[in-house]
Amino acid sequence: MRIPESKIEEIRNSISIVDVISEYVQLRKRGKNYIGLCPFHSEKTPSFTVTEEKQIFHCFGCHAGGNVYKFLMDYKKISFVEAVQEIAEQQGIEINYDDEGFNEKQSEQEILYDINTEVARYFSNNLLHDAEGEIARTYFQKRNLKIQTMRSFGLGYAHNGYENLVNFLKEKNIDLEKALQLGLIGRNNDGRVYDKQAGRIIFPIFSPNGRVVAFAGRKLREDDSGGKYINSPESIIYIKGRIFYGLSHAKDDIRKLDKAIIVEGYMDLISLYQAGVKNVVAVSGTALTDDQAQLLSRYTKNVVLLFDADAAGIKASMRSIEILLKRDFDVKISTLPKGEDPDSYVTKFGKEAFDEIIKTS
Ligand SMILES: [Zn+2]
Repeated sequence: MRIPESKIEEIRNSISIVDVISEYVQLRKRGKNYIGLCPFHSEKTPSFTVTEEKQIFHCFGCHAGGNVYKFLMDYKKISFVEAVQEIAEQQGIEINYDDEGFNEKQSEQEILYDINTEVARYFSNNLLHDAEGEIARTYFQKRNLKIQTMRSFGLGYAHNGYENLVNFLKEKNIDLEKALQLGLIGRNNDGRVYDKQAGRIIFPIFSPNGRVVAFAGRKLREDDSGGKYINSPESIIYIKGRIFYGLSHAKDDIRKLDKAIIVEGYMDLISLYQAGVKNVVAVSGTALTDDQAQLLSRYTKNVVLLFDADAAGIKASMRSIEILLKRDFDVKISTLPKGEDPDSYVTKFGKEAFDEIIKTS
């Protein structure tokens, strides 16, 4: 996908960099420039400068800088094309993609996104339409998930075996080296490639913009010797500490309600979402990071932590609170009755009971 150079310029000229950055950074006018606290490093006195005349930003502290596209790419962790599309959309400018550019090399990122999209579709089909997928459908149905919810979160199933995905990738002419980079497949000492998530249920992990950046595979079979979850390794499109599971689904509701509920697991989030509690994100196994806090602060400054009441959950809560307070969040903590987790609680008692718990936090 290539956007003509002239279009990129037209779109850039349709807005002022000051207006765009103001949405994310509080700017004050100083002389010809605007200054504010840098969003790319932590500081107390502003060294982040936006120059309207030149339509660029620059930080004297960490030397971040560039034009409006560069700002959006760095701030939102999106690709160049996405940054251009975002402004075009805002400004109501239609992009006619350059046909001649079709043969041009796609950016590395775009190629990886495309592979993940194909693979996500493959996993989803296995779950919803394949005979072997029965085992995974049964698992999700036991957890009370509706088909619609499985679709909406792109849930999937990886066939059990050595090279089912490998064969699919070959059929689709997908570069196996790239699939290795994404951690979809592995390579043995003898050079043979194999499926890494064989026999597992699959949770695709989405970027805030809804693109598939990684996969988490949950163990389903007793004879699977791997860990409970196998997650994609980091890649140029997936930096763990910068992704919140479920954010692409939840961001509108988080903005609307000006509040985010943070839970621990994939299933917690999906169950809540299905029950109508949609302003939820999940840290999914890792401790909350400062990057995640920064990401979330674009949507709200109010969070409710809803971690399991076991020792590990309490420890994770404490660490998360510290990080959130540093970013000026208003933090509340919710606890469920002993022995309950968000997933089972909302399934048993419904949204109203759950809302009560959150209200009284
Ligand atoms: Zn800086």
